[in-house]
Amino acid sequence: MTPLGKIIRQEINETSPMPVSRYMALCLGHPELGYYTTKNPIGAAGDFTTAPEISQMFGEMLGIWLLQTWADQGAPNPFALAELGPGRGTLMADILRVTGKNTKFTNAMRLFLVETSPVLRKKQIKTLKSQNITHLNNLAEMPDLPLFLVANEFFDALPVRQYVFSDAGWQERLITNATDGFQFILSSPAKNAGLDKAFPNLPNGVVVETSALSLQIAAEIGRRLLSDGGAALLIDYGALSGIGDTFQAVKNHSPSNPLTLQGQSDLTAHVQFQPLCDASKTAMQFATQGQFLENMGLSARADMLAKNASEQELQTLIASHRRLVH
Ligand code: SAH
Repeated sequence: MTPLGKIIRQEINETSPMPVSRYMALCLGHPELGYYTTKNPIGAAGDFTTAPEISQMFGEMLGIWLLQTWADQGAPNPFALAELGPGRGTLMADILRVTGKNTKFTNAMRLFLVETSPVLRKKQIKTLKSQNITHLNNLAEMPDLPLFLVANEFFDALPVRQYVFSDAGWQERLITNATDGFQFILSSPAKNAGLDKAFPNLPNGVVVETSALSLQIAAEIGRRLLSDGGAALLIDYGALSGIGDTFQAVKNHSPSNPLTLQGQSDLTAHVQFQPLCDASKTAMQFATQGQFLENMGLSARADMLAKNASEQELQTLIASHRRLVH
């Protein structure tokens, strides 16, 4: 068992079986042993790859979206450009290469990166060396400004609770100690009007997921957009709404058991966008990543890059274009 696994074991012994959200928060964010606290997990040498690491075109298309959205809102000056969970800083570097061509945008921009991981903060400073960035622990620390926000694969890293529906009531899926590891158990059934409303007409035995922290962050984004203006672009694995168990682990680019390797594998759950939108009290447009990128001109950009590409670069370009769109 990992050192963090032992700490979790002790907490369960001393208190009680824990919600999936508590387990996920400890595994990802424990101040000394958490996955994001200690590791640089993104990219070929890490555990998983993300869209900005696949191709520069992803960030470039987001840069175009930002320029247009900012102009559509009357080019506010000053404004905040904020990213939640910027990883290695690659996405922001690609965005800024595009937006940097517009000096009005650049002069009006204040750059904020919301990042809790000290390892990734260092990496972001290195990647964005010539930029004046302000790191924040959460969005609440940001000054009130028109907000243009992007987040890629941020919400899927936030803790979820899981519940199982039955005629007798909702049972929470909890994690408890087993002989040599951990296992899931169910709490006794209880009434829960919020879950009844969010997930009506389920058959017995279906698992559903809720993420209180995601809703809280969405509410904070919405409050700012409604009072100061701006827009937010949230990109993630998920759907408008959904049911089922999506709690999962990845290690070395392969699926892994989420109840092992505490602090050493990445844990995620799928994002449900409709509840985020409802919590934000703002209007939402929903699209697949492929639709969105094509609307921003992905294929035209790929054609331009192809003109100066070697045969090998061309193959990489075609593969990454396909991966981003599909
Ligand atoms: N957006 C990047 C990284 C995705 S990984 C990319 O696409 O490559 C998730 C990111 O969110 C990491 O930077 C991680 O450190 C950060 N993160 C996770 N939980 C967080 C939290 N509660 N607050 C702030 N950042 C968080």
